[in-house]
Amino acid sequence: MVPPIQPKPVAGDWYCLSAEEVLARVGSGRDGLSVDEAATRLAANGPNDLRETHRVRWFPILAGQFKSLIIWILIAAGVVSAALGERVDAAAILAIVVLNAVIGFYQEFRAENSIAALQKLTAPLATVHRGGRSEVVSASHVVVGDILVLEAGDLVAADARLLEAASLRCMEAPLTGESDAVRKQVALIPSPELALGDRANLVFRGTSVAAGMGRGVVVATSMNTELGRIAGLLDTADGAGETPLQEKLASFGRTLIGATLALVAVLFGLGLMRGTPLLELFMTSVSLAVAAVPEGLPAVATVALGLGVVRMARRHALIRRLPAVETLGSTTVICTDKTGTLTVGEMTVQALYVAGRRYEVTGQGYAPVGAVTFEGRPITESDRAPLRELATCLLGCNHAHLVQEESAWKSVGDPTEGALLAAGRKAGGDRGGIETGLPTVHENPFDSERKLSSVVRRKPDGTFLILVNGAPDLLLSRCTRFLTESGVRDLTDEDRRRILEVNATMAREALRVLGSATGGAPAAAVPGQDRPPGSEAGAALASDGNGRFEADVVERDLVFVGLSGMHDPPRPEAKAAVARCQSAGIRVVMITGDHPETAMAIAREIGVISGEGRVVAGVELEKWSEAQLRKNVGSITVYARVSAEHKLRIIRAWKTSDAVVAMTGDGINDAPAIRGADIGIAMGRSGTEVTKQAADMVVTDDNFASIVAAVEEGRGIYDNIRKTLQYLLAGNTGELLLMAVCLVSGFPLPLLPIHLLWINLVTDGLPALCLATDPIDPDVMKRRPRRRSERITDPRFLRTLLLTGILTAGVAFGVFVVALKNGTVEIARTEAFAVLVYAELLRAFGTRSATKPVWTIPLGSNLPLLIVVGISMGLQVWSHHNEVLGRFLKTGPVPVMEDLRLLALGAIPLLVLEAVKGFRRWLARLNRESRTSSI
Ligand code: ADP
Ligand code: MG
Repeated sequence: MVPPIQPKPVAGDWYCLSAEEVLARVGSGRDGLSVDEAATRLAANGPNDLRETHRVRWFPILAGQFKSLIIWILIAAGVVSAALGERVDAAAILAIVVLNAVIGFYQEFRAENSIAALQKLTAPLATVHRGGRSEVVSASHVVVGDILVLEAGDLVAADARLLEAASLRCMEAPLTGESDAVRKQVALIPSPELALGDRANLVFRGTSVAAGMGRGVVVATSMNTELGRIAGLLDTADGAGETPLQEKLASFGRTLIGATLALVAVLFGLGLMRGTPLLELFMTSVSLAVAAVPEGLPAVATVALGLGVVRMARRHALIRRLPAVETLGSTTVICTDKTGTLTVGEMTVQALYVAGRRYEVTGQGYAPVGAVTFEGRPITESDRAPLRELATCLLGCNHAHLVQEESAWKSVGDPTEGALLAAGRKAGGDRGGIETGLPTVHENPFDSERKLSSVVRRKPDGTFLILVNGAPDLLLSRCTRFLTESGVRDLTDEDRRRILEVNATMAREALRVLGSATGGAPAAAVPGQDRPPGSEAGAALASDGNGRFEADVVERDLVFVGLSGMHDPPRPEAKAAVARCQSAGIRVVMITGDHPETAMAIAREIGVISGEGRVVAGVELEKWSEAQLRKNVGSITVYARVSAEHKLRIIRAWKTSDAVVAMTGDGINDAPAIRGADIGIAMGRSGTEVTKQAADMVVTDDNFASIVAAVEEGRGIYDNIRKTLQYLLAGNTGELLLMAVCLVSGFPLPLLPIHLLWINLVTDGLPALCLATDPIDPDVMKRRPRRRSERITDPRFLRTLLLTGILTAGVAFGVFVVALKNGTVEIARTEAFAVLVYAELLRAFGTRSATKPVWTIPLGSNLPLLIVVGISMGLQVWSHHNEVLGRFLKTGPVPVMEDLRLLALGAIPLLVLEAVKGFRRWLARLNRESRTSSI
């Protein structure tokens, strides 16, 4: 056993210590812990969790199987039979109770386990610097002494003392209630007894990074963090609880229990009046109650949801909140990002524009192979200087890295910046030279609100060089001069118009365009030191306690240098996925920060827009009132140059028109929109932690097609729950009707308790489970979405239910009455039992689709159902010939020919129901035709 290394939390004094002192106290250094040391500390101190994470325990699930009243009635019945010496009955009842519990337990345990396993996949992550490298680890593996690397959109995984901070701001509302982002610093604060919100050199677990970058050394984890101390504020109940559908089913089930118990009581009274022996009546009533009450409903939903969620995960959609699965099935609008979701997100710069000339760039991907050409010919000497100037911006204001992995070049970091790196090299830039000759003083990373990114570098003479990249239209408004062949001169309106024209031309070619600019700041104008003491050479971050290099200060009065147009091909599968949405009655809306023309070109290519599409830019949207937006929202397919706030407005506008909206997002600013959407979808790769934690679903491959796949699964799961419900309830109705009719009309009881129990477990129970996991109907995406308000038990559902009940009860009653005339009660019962079982088993196949003919649904696609039905039928027939089974099931001998006749009769309900389906199809077609002809 390793002794705990975690230092005693020295309450609140971390911020009074210098960074070096803190590092020494927690036994770490600026390069962090070694990987081994981190592992040792993790083992010694335990994971960085606030409370034990949700684990699936077998006992509560098993106990849950015995929670229903019905089971206890059944057990009581078993005990009564045993006391009266009816040993076979007692044994049969108990066997059925146990079997019921085992099957239910197994299914639910499996489903809950898979859900829990999936939820772990979306647990928060943290970036730490260990053993000289940054790596992403699960937040629960962060230990004291780790160096946390923080970026906008990160969740702070533990309490840490800052070592570096560049424009770092944190949202501390969960701890302090302060809703504005708090500015962070490195310098120590010598005053003790500061309030939490004023400890500016600390970052706290549970808060998030709103802007900037930073590094800090972890001083407290798990329950020792400030958040751990205020346990009352914890809000980690994510994903727990029941879904609305599960709740509805449970309450529906309770209603049904009440109704059936009342009905059974009435039948019991009737039986008493007719003089049925008390014991027989008691046992029958109990069995009837057991058979008729759909105690399995909530479990069926759990299983269907659980296994569905696993299937979704295989298709790259991780569900974080179970209710989202139901909502997914009714999605009517998907608002999606463009870059990386509809497009591949692998960018190649293909065009450069500098000093009035447009160049082509050859080569594909991030490999540094290719060259800059002018009108197809190699560039000349006079082209070199302006190109190098542009390359300096591309390389010098860049956080990405290019690495070669097994011959393929990859971009680490923002793919846009990776593309700029490759282009910068081809244009003759030298990144190493920039890094050594012009060390970084400050960075203002890209954010989708500014749509700019800037870096401040120090020149050898002590003055500062500012390099800026960003959306050309926005960048240009911050430029006053521009670079020409003959040097820098003032920008005229004519120059601006021409640059924007080149920008638009590139955008129409579906290129994503970035502008570059430079600026300067004299050394003399900047008093004080520019690097924090103790910061290692080459570190990208710097302290800026007085904000002199903040974005709004340096990103103005710039010299415009040039444009880079990069190609980001559409995802090959996106086009098909968009088409699937359209045939499924789902609107696809593209929302992008990109230029309207680029957005339009890509939208056309992918099929989001056909013909005259309408694109609305953020500035236009800004001018609209809520009412105007609501009026227009239905006709807009592409939004360009939007900010996160616009996304929220778009969501709200759609929601007032009763749409079910799914919205994707990756940036930290997208979190409110994601929370506001009916289904918030975060991108697994490009998404920030904050966005992921706000989302209902995480798409692990960032692919639009995966979102569509999830919608398809959602529809499939809903279908499965509905058909299982239909199957179970219709079966119960049939049994109840049959018994009621016989009791009322004075016939002997057609089904014995064991028959009812057997049907409940084997004939209905097992096929129901197979139906709950039925493969998705391939045509599920050819239907319109169901309405938000649609109830699973709509009138059509109830009509089918009643019809099925009447059909099965009718057939069984007929068989019973005829057999009674010709033979003993025992044989009549055996035949009624058998025909009912056959009818139920055959009907299972028809229930697989509410609309399609049974013969068009491939039998082999639900093998478990085929097996279960085969075995049940086999057992039934066998019980007619086998003494032991016959005694257990209380059946008599039935010749094979007779069994075949019963089977044929048992097919009647299935056939009638198929005829009804056919009739409904015909009606629907008639409706469609009359509608089209009237247009
Ligand atoms: P989207 O993700 O919808 O394509 P973004 O918000 O990422 O939109 O980008 C909007 C615009 O900001 C782009 O058209 C581009 O001009 C600019 N831009 C994108 N990424 C960067 C970056 N890393 N540095 C500078 N500018 C960028
Ligand atoms: Mg983006």
